[in-house]
Parts: sequence; C-alpha cells; structure tokens
Amino acid sequence: MGRVYNFSAGPAVLPEVVLKEAQEEMFDYRGTGMSVMEMSHRSSAFQQIIDEAEADLRDLMNIPDNYKVLFLQGGASLHFASIPMNLMKNGVADYIITGQWAKKAYEEAKKYGKVNAIASSADETFTYIPDCSDLPISEDADYVYICQNNTIYGTVYHELPNTKGKVLVADVSSCFLSEPIDVEKYGVIWGGVQKNIGPAGVQIVIIREDLLREDLPEFVPTMMNFKVQADKGSLYNTPPCYGIYICGKVFKWIKNMGGLEAMKAHNEKKAAILYDFLDQSKLFKGTVRKEDRSLMNVPFVTGDKDLDAKFVAEAKAAGFENLKGHRTVGGMRASIYNAMPIEGVEKLVEFMKKFEEENM
Ligand SMILES: *Cc1c(COP(=O)(O)O)cnc(C)c1O
Repeated sequence: MGRVYNFSAGPAVLPEVVLKEAQEEMFDYRGTGMSVMEMSHRSSAFQQIIDEAEADLRDLMNIPDNYKVLFLQGGASLHFASIPMNLMKNGVADYIITGQWAKKAYEEAKKYGKVNAIASSADETFTYIPDCSDLPISEDADYVYICQNNTIYGTVYHELPNTKGKVLVADVSSCFLSEPIDVEKYGVIWGGVQKNIGPAGVQIVIIREDLLREDLPEFVPTMMNFKVQADKGSLYNTPPCYGIYICGKVFKWIKNMGGLEAMKAHNEKKAAILYDFLDQSKLFKGTVRKEDRSLMNVPFVTGDKDLDAKFVAEAKAAGFENLKGHRTVGGMRASIYNAMPIEGVEKLVEFMKKFEEENM
C-alpha cells in the first residue's frame, strides 16, 4: 500500500522529502556511522543539528536577537503549567477561552495564581473568536494568554487581541510556521511540533529575554525553568534529539518552498478549495463563522450523524484518512497543515462532490 492523504489533526502529515532524507540517513548519519537516535547529545554532530535548526527557525520567523528559542519536551499540555510558573510575578493572568486547549491552559494556570477568563466563545460552542479590541485586561496581569489557532473547533485569530500593553502569550501548536507572524508582538510564542512541524515530543518556546527570571519560586521543576533551559541552550539534559533533527529538516523544507510568505499562499490556496466547496454544497457545511476560519483545521458536517459516519468510512476506504471530527464536536475535520499537498485537498473535494451526488 502506498501513502494515504492524511488529514490527521496531530500527529500529522510530514513532507515526503523529509521522511525520505531521514530514511537515507537512518543507518549512517553523514559518515558518523550511526543514526541520530544513537548519538550523544553532547557530540559535535548533534550540536550542529540543533544549532542549524535554531538558525533556520530564526531565519524563517525573523526572530529578533532579544528572543531565546528553546527546544523542550513534555507535550504542549505540560507547558500549560510552565507558562504560569515562569511568567507569574504578580500571580495574575488573563485568559481568552476560545476552545478546549485554551480552557485546559486556563484550568492548569489556576493552580499557580489568580486567573481571569476575560473573554470566551463557549456560548456558541467555540465557533467564533470573540471581539478582543477592548477587553477588561487586569491592571496587574502578568500576561494575556491565547490559543491562536483552535485545532478542534477550526477558528483562528486573524487579529491579535489588544492586550493594553500586557505581555501576549500564544499557543501556536496548530498554526506554527503556517504563515508569517510578527514575533515582536508577543512575549512568548510556543507550541508542540506534532501538528505542523515534526514528531511528537518536541516543544518550541520562543521567549523574550526580559521575561526569563532568576527569582522563580522554589517549587518550579528545573526542567520547566525557562531561564535554565535558555542558559543551557536547551541541553540542560538529554533533549528530544531525533525530533529536533526532523524539525530541522522541516525548517529547511519550508525555506526551500520559499519561506513563510510562500507557505501562507500555499495554505490559503488549499483552504480556499475546501471552503469554496463547503460554501456552495447542499450537503456539507462548515461549522465556523466565516471571518474566523482557520487555514489549518476545517471542521464540517452534513447535519446527520449517520451520514457523517458513512462519509468518514467511505473516505477512509478511498484513501483519505483521519477525517473524523474531534470526539467532542462530531462531524468531520480536515486538517490541512503545511505538508498536505494541494492535490490532497483537490481530491478530497472531488470525493465530497461524488458523495454529495450519491447521497442527496
Ligand atoms: C494538540 C494541541 C495541544 C496539546 O498537545 P499535547 O502535546 O498533546 O499536550 C495544545 N494546544 C494546541 C493548540 C493543540 O493543537
């Protein structure tokens, strides 16, 4: 069997050239006589891998010198705790709740301080992004937290919230490197890589230097101390070496594709194919307010649970994998991350058209 079109929300599709390169280098990484998996993280070969990965990421995102780049482990869910641990000085933070991941981050942060939910779209099952132009930002808030792209619900902030001068922290797990962003608008940009960049197990944290603190509370685990990790160049202990190696290859792939402007154009083209179809379909419809649609995760429904299940099953049989919606939302979701080729979306839409004709 060949490769399928994989619409998984994460872990998700990776560029085929990256997988092939990794395969070629599996047995003997560039004359070292070993795989990157077998290599000391203190070796010069690995140091070069992590240094190059960081340099390429800085280049791609235009990261200013006063920001540190950390390659950590733990799953995005671990850093729902590291963020408040590292950033709460006054012990206060404001969260905008636009879905399950924002809500989980909010619940976790409550363990470490006073946390305010200053806006939410829970009233309409997270199908939109609230107006964030004039929110009741707390005077003593250490930061304002958002989940920039809502993987489960398929919404994205097309405009960042007005934080009234407070530090903005964004979980970008599911939109990392999907389009250019202005790093200087954020204090911390962070996310897991298994959606849009690489294998599960790597977290990337981009943090403005002045937010790194010497005076963290005693209880903060050393591994979750961003200052320690920054001082040690992400090598306080054994990092997720192989994952970082694959991320580095993906960074090079994006550079070869033309960088983030080109990635954005590629992603907009793919998303338009799917949304344009949904907007005229008599059977399928998108579930999200148009202005807030994500370029990465596209949820849709037929309005009939049995028909949704039939669609998912027939799509799978036709080589379109992982189209079932999140268990909390139902319906379908097509995640069309960077590495999903345009043909994948074109063929999916063809398949949806055929299904519509057969089932109307
Ligand atoms: C997947 C996801 C998470 C959780 O990631 P884990 O690595 O499984 O903890 C957090 N935030 C967003 C936006 C996600 O898409």
